[in-house]
Amino acid sequence: MISHVLPTYNRAPLSFERGEGSWAITADGTRYLDLGAGIAVNVLGHANPELVAALTEQAGKIWHVSNLYQIAQQEKLASQLVEATFADTVFFTNSGTEAAELAIKMIRKYWDHAGDPDRIEVLTFEGAFHGRSTGAIAASGAEKMVKGFGPLMPGFRTLPWGDLEALKAVMSDRTAAVMLEPVQGEGGIRPIADEDLRAIRQLCDETGALLVLDEVQCGVGRTGRLFAHEYSGVTPDVMMIAKGIGGGFPLGAVLASEKAAAAMVAGTHGSTYGGNPLACAVGSRVMEIVAEPEFLAEVNRKGGLFRQKLEGLIAAHPDVFKGVRGQGLMLGLKCKVAPVDLVRAGYDRHILTVPAADNTLRLLPPLNISDADIAEAVDRLDQAASDLAA
Ligand SMILES: *Cc1c(COP(=O)(O)O)cnc(C)c1O
Repeated sequence: MISHVLPTYNRAPLSFERGEGSWAITADGTRYLDLGAGIAVNVLGHANPELVAALTEQAGKIWHVSNLYQIAQQEKLASQLVEATFADTVFFTNSGTEAAELAIKMIRKYWDHAGDPDRIEVLTFEGAFHGRSTGAIAASGAEKMVKGFGPLMPGFRTLPWGDLEALKAVMSDRTAAVMLEPVQGEGGIRPIADEDLRAIRQLCDETGALLVLDEVQCGVGRTGRLFAHEYSGVTPDVMMIAKGIGGGFPLGAVLASEKAAAAMVAGTHGSTYGGNPLACAVGSRVMEIVAEPEFLAEVNRKGGLFRQKLEGLIAAHPDVFKGVRGQGLMLGLKCKVAPVDLVRAGYDRHILTVPAADNTLRLLPPLNISDADIAEAVDRLDQAASDLAA
């Protein structure tokens, strides 16, 4: 008989009752070091007192009103995001998928408004993940996500990851947009080289195509910059964010330049919950903390420390690990074993990690993880790797 919860996940036999910083705690008090952070979501750890205060303070006032009215918390967060980025305007969603969906609609509307409604081809890359809506799975193109869900939304073309020659060969004045993650998350913590992102920007400039970046996983401080694309100096036209921005409260957004968003006038898009007072009160507090240069410098320092220790781990287990990649606290251990086996071995050592494609184990701890917990994490990974080898 089918489970009451639709069984689309292979869940671990683990359940957590509460959390404290980088630790998730079961009902019997067992503490698990959380290097998944709800898949890059809990950027300030579990039960962060400042976020709890922001949420409960707002919860005592008003939860939800509808976008039919002015929402002060939403306007505040939009201003914070506009001030901190390339963007001129922001639309709030409840998830990354909804942000991807709006980004796709924005591309279509942009060209329609420009008098070229047939210009719909969006170029994406293998290994991409943009969510699970019908539009987002078409954008990814991955067999395991699209199988059985056709016919797919037309207009997407997937190219080999980071293959600039392939991109140059197909880009033309028929290309509507290029859409990519500056650091692929589900694809296996694969960063695009800065010079390649600059080259993509230039190709977009030459053809007029929009550059749409998906920073749902790599954004909001994860890589040690507020947004990963900042490393390259490139400016996108549209950017999706989610995951980290709510610190655990469901929140996403599309950030756009005025030019890219010009056709999105009243009535062209909407959301019941998107940008409600609760979500935006929390998102605002996340931004106040994470966007601080000192905080981002710490993410970089901790990322460096973690990486250095991981190099030692790789050297100690050459049969298990191949190498480490990523930026800041978005780290991937390329494995010689199946990453899911390592994840399971980690459960026995009370450490939570996340598998990804390309035989990679993802390490996405809270951005405020302590140095001691980083050392503890590497010890536990060392034990898990030894268990696996034995
Ligand atoms: C998680 C993710 C999404 C989808 O976000 P949801 O909140 O799960 O809908 C989209 N893009 C990227 C890069 C992601 O990592």
